[in-house]
Amino acid sequence: MNTINIQYYKTKIGELILGSFGNKLCLLDFRYRRMRTSVDNRLKRELNAEYIEQDTNVLKETRKQIDEYLSGERVEFTIPILMVGSDFQKQVWNALISVNYGEVATYLDLAKNINNEKAVRAVASANGANSIGLIIPCHRIIGSDGDLVGYGGGLQVKKRLLNLEKKNSKLTDDEKYEFIGSRNKKFDFKFITAVKTTRIYCLPSCSAKKPNKENVVFYDTKKEAIKNGYRACEVCNP
Ligand SMILES: [Zn+2]
Repeated sequence: MNTINIQYYKTKIGELILGSFGNKLCLLDFRYRRMRTSVDNRLKRELNAEYIEQDTNVLKETRKQIDEYLSGERVEFTIPILMVGSDFQKQVWNALISVNYGEVATYLDLAKNINNEKAVRAVASANGANSIGLIIPCHRIIGSDGDLVGYGGGLQVKKRLLNLEKKNSKLTDDEKYEFIGSRNKKFDFKFITAVKTTRIYCLPSCSAKKPNKENVVFYDTKKEAIKNGYRACEVCNP
């Protein structure tokens, strides 16, 4: 029988359970969540191991980096991780890792990223089975309409993490303008572009003609754009 060293860790986003195997991190999750038992059982089964509550260097370093991340000082983790799951799950988790700090993606984006556009539901389920939260950033996945979808730590925590990242990775207006019409969806719902002359608001990736810079205003959300009297573009349908 092998050992997974675990520690519980109270943070401002809730109590976490951390686990290391060898000198890699295999678990960073909410102590109380749906699927807690099924995630734990998968790790124990696949690694033929038991949980022992004992600290390790990897767990210490993980706690330090979590603190730095939550205070906005860290945008990237440098802990060696061990993914425990099926090949498909690992594919999805690797795709998740490619969603950068401050960005969001949808299940469909992930499915496309692994060249399996039809596997959206399986992708969603692999996302939910993630046992290394924050580092494998399942909190950066949103619904295709921009709504938040479920999260192991609860929607409030998810919102908090996304806001933290958004705040720390603010683009300048010049940078935002560069992305207009790039057809790159990674900034969709991160900001909204509105055009003063047409009174229409768009997603950054909209394929309609790029407006002149002096006519563009940026909003964080479509709600704000609507509040300021703009209506949705019929091309990108934000
Ligand atoms: Zn548009």
